[in-house]
Amino acid sequence: MRILMIAPPGAGKGTQGALIAAHFNIPHIATGELLRDHVARQTALGQEVQAYLDRGELVPDQIVLDMVREAMIAAKESGGGYVIDGIPRNMEQARAAYQIALELGMTADVALHLQADDAELTRRLLARAALEHRSDDTAEVIAQRLALFHEVTFPIVAWYRDRGILLCVDAMRSAREVGREILAALEAMRPSLDLVSSQERPPLDLTSLGNAFGATSSAAGRSE
Ligand code: AMP
Repeated sequence: MRILMIAPPGAGKGTQGALIAAHFNIPHIATGELLRDHVARQTALGQEVQAYLDRGELVPDQIVLDMVREAMIAAKESGGGYVIDGIPRNMEQARAAYQIALELGMTADVALHLQADDAELTRRLLARAALEHRSDDTAEVIAQRLALFHEVTFPIVAWYRDRGILLCVDAMRSAREVGREILAALEAMRPSLDLVSSQERPPLDLTSLGNAFGATSSAAGRSE
């Protein structure tokens, strides 16, 4: 089972990613978690990325791509499955991550999109701020992260829809209900996945979405 999660901040990708990983016994690769861990440990990388996280901006693409490549190689050694949450966030990352997966023979079977509206996401993130004290869970930074999601991440969803691997789930309900629906849907898809992945999939050409991303995505990628 190879799953990519595309979801706005606050939709529950961390929670649901962990649930999926435990259910299918596959590694959970969460770029935000990996980056926060570097910041907490104050590694050289952590010091480099801290300001991006604090401002709710995307860290440079190459940093997350290197992380993902390393994590995918490890995932390959431990059976080949994965659930990745946090990447791709823009067109460049989507292209590059697809290339990495292609080289490793591990392209995604399912792109899981969690849907929730901004008012609910903001409410959740502010509630989380009171508990977890994440530097990026302030009202201003939350608004920036949501705007970034709509502008540069959401258009990638169409690309997965075209490929026929998109699974959309309504994330406006409790984590428990959402989790139950995700696992039921993935279990229902499971028997057909081997068949589908053994067929030639159409190449994923993100360039057709160039206008949707346009200059905004590179600006976001450079976090200017
Ligand atoms: P998340 O935990 O997924 O909400 O990510 C938290 C923060 O980590 C984001 O606001 C970005 O600053 C950074 N981040 C996580 N994943 C990526 C990515 N794929 N590309 C760039 N920045 C990322």
